[in-house]
Amino acid sequence: MSAAPATSPSRSRDGTAASLLNDEERTRIRAKSAQFAPPPAALPDGRRDLVGLSREELTDILVEIGEKPFRTKQLWHWIYHQGATDFSRMSSIARPLQEKLAERFVIGRPGVVTEQTSQDSTRKFLFRFRDGQEAETVYIPDRQEDRGAVCISSQVGCTLSCTFCHTGTQALVRNLGAAEIVGQFMAARDSYGEWPSPKGETPRLLSTIVLMGMGEPLYNYDNVAKAMRIIMDGEGIGLSRRRITLSTSGVVPMMDQCGAELGINLAVSLHAVRDDLRDEIVPLNRKYPIREVIAACRRYPAASNARRITFEYIMLRGINDSEADARELVRLISGIPAKVNLIPFNPWPGSSYRPSTREQLDRFAKIVMDAGFASPIRMPRGRDILAACGQLRTESQRLRRAAGQPDAAPGPQDAGS
Ligand code: SF4
Repeated sequence: MSAAPATSPSRSRDGTAASLLNDEERTRIRAKSAQFAPPPAALPDGRRDLVGLSREELTDILVEIGEKPFRTKQLWHWIYHQGATDFSRMSSIARPLQEKLAERFVIGRPGVVTEQTSQDSTRKFLFRFRDGQEAETVYIPDRQEDRGAVCISSQVGCTLSCTFCHTGTQALVRNLGAAEIVGQFMAARDSYGEWPSPKGETPRLLSTIVLMGMGEPLYNYDNVAKAMRIIMDGEGIGLSRRRITLSTSGVVPMMDQCGAELGINLAVSLHAVRDDLRDEIVPLNRKYPIREVIAACRRYPAASNARRITFEYIMLRGINDSEADARELVRLISGIPAKVNLIPFNPWPGSSYRPSTREQLDRFAKIVMDAGFASPIRMPRGRDILAACGQLRTESQRLRRAAGQPDAAPGPQDAGS
């Protein structure tokens, strides 16, 4: 993690200069992200994966093999509405073309290494991608209704090293590609048999997406944005932007871009209300301090009373859970359409943090709620299968080692952000 720059984008008093600096910062972030690019979405025999291509890219490769652009619409429907993985199922496409497509392309899914269902019905998938790298995805059913959220990973490992997060102890290996991000959702749907994509009022089991799995999604913005555009496309999976939430530790310049381009919901991993403490537990704060993160939330275009920004706040006993902390939190977010998710800490071996007591959690929640912000205490889900917040991936690796199985091939070390 590099030290904070002398002048960071929103510290400038001049609006134009600030946006120029933000552009520079975005260019720098993208260049860094490119060093962790995923491998090409193709098989060793040269067949290319159609999942993860934009409509324009799909049209281009169809035209390259001598097909008419209107085939894009047909294929898109089969891939993303029907969930077909086999060209021979595509009954609106003549057999010779089915065979031609099968010779050149595949409709891929990540491999399922393990699929575990918790006593509380949370289901966790460990997926393996073509280069052997792995990531976890969790389906969290709603307790009251017949629907739920799919928690998707955006990177293998994470560069940010938040000190309360077990996932963050694994160095960043690489970014996930658009095919791998969309593929997690599609493979979860395969598991629940939820094809074709429910339309209109038809209830959806996998009804929301939270980009809260492994990794910082805004450090892999281009792949995440492409994947979300595919998922939001009304002729395919058709999930509304209102049903997608991206969780960030506060990559300020990319928060602006995400809001302007995707308009999806935003969650911010705040976890502390003073810079000295947040510098320690969310080290990205040294680069984008609290006031810049909060300012980016205030200008986030998709936020409204109907679509509140979620502030995630992990409750660490004696560290960030005092009543003074709660009052400062309320002051910081005052005027933002927001809710605060209070997350009881999940202890893990090697961590010195302890969870807040129930009484302290309740006291904290009451102060926030009395100030007019919803402040649900998020009870951990899928604890018995290690699917709770911050437990992803690292534990899977440890168990695989214990079972004498090799880990996925090591990747490049974290170059910091
Ligand atoms: S909390 Fe999120 S951003 Fe922080 S280390 Fe864990 S996975 Fe990375």
